[in-house]
Amino acid sequence: EILCIGSINMDLVMVMDHLPEPGETVVTDNFNTYPGGKGGNQAVTAAVQGAKVTMFSKLGGDGFSKELLEKMASRGVDTSRILMDREKTAGIAIIRVDSKGQNSISFTPGSNAFLMPGDILENSDLFVPGRILLLTMEINLESIYHAIRLAGQHGMFVIVDPAPAPSRPFPADIPPLVDVIKPNESEARTITGVEIKNKADAKVAIERLKKMGFKLPVITLGDKGLVACIEDRIVEFPPLSVECIDTTAAGDVFSGTLAASLAQGCSIERSLELANCAGALSTTIAGAQTSIPSPERVRQFMDK
Ligand code: ADP
Repeated sequence: EILCIGSINMDLVMVMDHLPEPGETVVTDNFNTYPGGKGGNQAVTAAVQGAKVTMFSKLGGDGFSKELLEKMASRGVDTSRILMDREKTAGIAIIRVDSKGQNSISFTPGSNAFLMPGDILENSDLFVPGRILLLTMEINLESIYHAIRLAGQHGMFVIVDPAPAPSRPFPADIPPLVDVIKPNESEARTITGVEIKNKADAKVAIERLKKMGFKLPVITLGDKGLVACIEDRIVEFPPLSVECIDTTAAGDVFSGTLAASLAQGCSIERSLELANCAGALSTTIAGAQTSIPSPERVRQFMDK
């Protein structure tokens, strides 16, 4: 069982010939809305992979919030504990994409920014031994640290996907309460100060994460696969060869699959292999929650 805490957003995407200058109106008939947010993407991924997932997050009183809730529930996530603040609107990203693929994005976190430490404490019954806590960082940092401490008190297994990476160091008590920390290259650099260009750099960053007290650091390296440290052994997972067309949410699909596989009793090595495979497959399809591969496809691809 997984408790996922993180952001839920709606992406409003218009594809157009060119991006508008200030004062200009560009007309297009290419418009779509896509559910997103790192928390939402990871919760849906874990549910698609067959895990039982409860989402804890905050949405607003607008139509987007209602739609986001319904869509997430339709993909198997338990949304009954998501808080709805009528005074707020959902997190919204307005994304314009031109014919060359360049984009311009404006974003408001909306209700996501109002999930407060008090909300976590009021819902502390969600924190129970045996559950996995899956966290991303697009919400209030103090709330995240509260959640990690509560999880620690209940002996929960904690996975932190530090995206976006906090600019200030983690409070000293936090790293030892985290079982898996899974930054990508740029997040690992923000947290450790190590510029990561190759696997050797990633290993140096892993050593730093271990020194900070993180038990099991995993650094994902995009098309170079990933490096992890399992019980003091550095383990490399080579990338799977795929026809990559869009890397959006590869990291989210990776984390969601990792959590689901661990929840289903797989070893950490096997879970990382499955996550590596799911992350790679997600890049062969455009979009975020549209690109989550089925568990059958993941296993088929891995056994090839
Ligand atoms: P993020 O989306 O957070 O930046 P990464 O780009 O590191 O995360 O991707 C996460 C994981 O997805 C990688 O570790 C790898 O397993 C898989 N992946 C991403 N891009 C590719 C690719 N081009 N080919 C194969 N696997 C990929």
